[in-house]
Amino acid sequence: MEDGFRDNDISKVVEADRAHVWHHLVQHKPFETGEPRIITEGKGIHVWDQRGVKHLDGVSGGVWTVNVGYGRESIANAVRDQLIKLNYFAGAAGTIPGAIFAEKLIEKMPGLTRVYYCNSGSEANEKAFKMVRQIAHKKYGGKKTKILYRDRDYHGTTIGALSAGGQDQRNAQYGPFAPDFVRVPHCLEYRAGDQNAPVENYGEWAADQIEQVILAEGPETVGALCLEPITAGGGVIVPPEGYWPRVQEICRKYDILLHIDEVVCGVGRTGTWFGYQHYGIEPDFVTMAKGVASGYAAIACCVTSERVFDMFKESPEDPMDYFRDISTFGGCTAGPAAAIENMRIIEDENLLDNTVAMGDRLLKNFEALAEKHKVIGEVRGKGLFAGIELVADRQTRAPADEKQCAQIVAECAKRQVIIGVTNRSVPGYNNTLTFSPALIATPDHIDEISNAVDESLTAVF
Ligand code: PLP
Repeated sequence: MEDGFRDNDISKVVEADRAHVWHHLVQHKPFETGEPRIITEGKGIHVWDQRGVKHLDGVSGGVWTVNVGYGRESIANAVRDQLIKLNYFAGAAGTIPGAIFAEKLIEKMPGLTRVYYCNSGSEANEKAFKMVRQIAHKKYGGKKTKILYRDRDYHGTTIGALSAGGQDQRNAQYGPFAPDFVRVPHCLEYRAGDQNAPVENYGEWAADQIEQVILAEGPETVGALCLEPITAGGGVIVPPEGYWPRVQEICRKYDILLHIDEVVCGVGRTGTWFGYQHYGIEPDFVTMAKGVASGYAAIACCVTSERVFDMFKESPEDPMDYFRDISTFGGCTAGPAAAIENMRIIEDENLLDNTVAMGDRLLKNFEALAEKHKVIGEVRGKGLFAGIELVADRQTRAPADEKQCAQIVAECAKRQVIIGVTNRSVPGYNNTLTFSPALIATPDHIDEISNAVDESLTAVF
């Protein structure tokens, strides 16, 4: 494993990467000067880089994806066997793994019944947006086309998904965006002061702000509300008590479809199958991607209720009257084959329970660090999904310097622990360290992460 370069001459790989690969979310400058990092192998919670250095991956593949960890031969075998049998078929026909995974998934999501397959979180969200728009035309005479989204939430990278993007630095320079997407305020209690919110009952107050937007826009124009159950890249924002029940009530009151984006929180990340299940809410759409097959194959799903599905039933006089949409690679069988095995692993290895236990340990460790490091403003999280918001001043809650926050990531990397930081998302608030280790994490792994953070905070601040 240590020299895991197999048949490749790694220096040639590094050169090819530097010359031809356009990496995600990085500026050019580091490429011109430094050596790109190539990840060559992974096993369990660890990955190895081109120098053979072993790292503890505290972010599940960079972007909270590899929920069951690396090197799962049973997933590789399931995919291999399926590919030999049938790799692909799309259009109106189904496939065996597609049907089996849909049934297993629906068992975990009471109240929902239909799975629409596609490839990425962005695409799954686009499917839901298209369904909402078509419902507006079919049922409401072209009204109710508006889709509400929340400040600091992120729903993907396509122009439609960015139109619902609450992270202004992700959106800047990519407009103009699609019309009829309307922003509602965030629900980060720690930042309630910036919103002039009352100290008491912040959760209800934050939900009521959504109602204010609906009333200002006209309830008859609003079709859906799209929210992350726990905001991820916008700062790991766990909604305050009282928020979700009120949100559900508001949606019902104004006949607004509730779309929950589980791309990050879904499939065990927060200790339940889906993040929304902590809050007892009943969504009309649930979208998911990353952890569905832990990155062993590309798969995303837009899951809906039978009520939504029924709204697309054909009327005899209108041949256009169904969901006229296809996702070419939604017909790949590798995705659902990997997802079935991914789900079996989570069940057989009791990874939801482990996520709750290890998530508690991670938060406790971080809270202990907050006693020691004044730069820690707030620790937030649920399950193996956590954030540490860093501040320059605890009294004023002024955010810590972004460069110093980024340095913490670099310091942890020196200690062979990979962590994340909110990155070019919310202007002025790229100050939250992020953590999402694989759901197989052990107490030793958790402690190694918090020790690395402890030392790094001491080194930087
Ligand atoms: N939704 C959320 C909450 C996300 O965090 C992301 C990506 O990070 C997406 C959607 C988009 O997913 P993808 O990158 O697979 O398109």
